[in-house]
Amino acid sequence: MPEQLPESYLAVLKQAEGFVAQEIVPRGERLGLGEPLAALSAEVRAASKQAGFFYKTQPEAFGGAPAGALELTMLREYWASANSELTRFIFGPGPGILHEASGELASQFLKPVMAGEKRGAFGFTEPDSAPRPTWAVLANDELTLNGQKSYVTGGDTADFLSILVNVEDPNGAKLGTAMVVVDRAAAGVVLEDTFTSMEGGGHAAFRFEAVKVPSWQMIGKLGEGMPRALANIGNVRLMVAAEAMGMSLWALDYLNQHLLAPHRTGGSLGDKEGVRLRYAELRIQAFAGRSVLYRAARRADGPDNSVNEVIAAKVFCTEVASTIIDWAVQLVGGQALVVGHPLEALYRRVRSLRLVEGANDLLRLNLAKGNLELGKGDL
Ligand SMILES: Cc1cc2nc3c(=O)[nH]c(=O)nc-3n(C[C@H](O)[C@H](O)[C@H](O)COP(=O)(O)OP(=O)(O)OC[C@H]3O[C@@H](n4cnc5c(N)ncnc54)[C@H](O)[C@@H]3O)c2cc1C
Repeated sequence: MPEQLPESYLAVLKQAEGFVAQEIVPRGERLGLGEPLAALSAEVRAASKQAGFFYKTQPEAFGGAPAGALELTMLREYWASANSELTRFIFGPGPGILHEASGELASQFLKPVMAGEKRGAFGFTEPDSAPRPTWAVLANDELTLNGQKSYVTGGDTADFLSILVNVEDPNGAKLGTAMVVVDRAAAGVVLEDTFTSMEGGGHAAFRFEAVKVPSWQMIGKLGEGMPRALANIGNVRLMVAAEAMGMSLWALDYLNQHLLAPHRTGGSLGDKEGVRLRYAELRIQAFAGRSVLYRAARRADGPDNSVNEVIAAKVFCTEVASTIIDWAVQLVGGQALVVGHPLEALYRRVRSLRLVEGANDLLRLNLAKGNLELGKGDL
């Protein structure tokens, strides 16, 4: 196995295979027959708690049994390779950007999040039309927020938003950036728009009109906003890379079966040399992508800085997955584009991965900066 996983991880993987076969596949069939997603996702969560997978993304302080980056990567890739809408309910909610919260921020937001009682959304992206980036005036331990955020995934149904703001004093002097937790129901939080992106994600755009927020709702210290926002995004990048390779594995497995099946021209498509060349190229790319993914995950578990390596994995794996799924569509032919075909859905889903958690070209610029100006990153 190219990933060279330790025996204990292979045992977890075997358990995961059993879980998908017994808990995910039959419920996926029920979903296809029209049973509601909400009921089936609750069943998956209950089964996942029973099996112990639920707790692998949760800190010990909240009853979790957190797994390291390599184990999570292995599982995330495997869940994605099942190509089911239901695998996203297996892991329990993680603390995300609230991971170091203490005091009131912990009791009012982090604890309810970990108990599944509250859900937050992340507000970083701003509309091009915004007159100035979202800002907050700090006076008497209170922030007054104004501005806009767009593309807040799950924002319309969230209980709170974690947003990046530029903080200044009442005279306009700049004090630095901060991540601030804002109650979704606070006065002045205006839901301007909701929309759906092609892979099915639901998003919201917000306007903030003199929203009053107590200063304890700031995550960490003043001035730490941008590094905290980027650190949170960094944790998710490895997850995106793992999902990309899991999707690639599913597509290659599907393609393998298609190439071996009878074709109307007589024989099979897999008999044709030109098709074999294409297929081999896709397998070479998947091999390279998985090698990058697992090397970056091992690095993330170690003591050394892994920002550049995780960026490399996110960019490479999402681009490899885009190529593999695009060619899988091409080789399966017109039927793969019929609405409802699994490759049609996968094609829409893979497209967003090159934009989420940092557009790939911007990540390339970050990687160059990390190396040229900060001396980070190994080859
Ligand atoms: C499914 C999905 C979910 C999302 N969820 C969230 C969320 O929950 N919260 C949130 O805050 N945002 C979210 N986003 C927004 C996402 O983070 C942004 O779309 C992404 O960061 C790109 O920003 P942008 O759309 O403003 O494009 P722009 O920043 O305008 O960039 C567009 C393109 O221009 C090029 N480009 C831009 N600047 C440069 C440069 N300096 N050098 C070279 N090329 C450049 C790149 O090719 C880039 O892809 C989500 C997006 C998607 C698709």
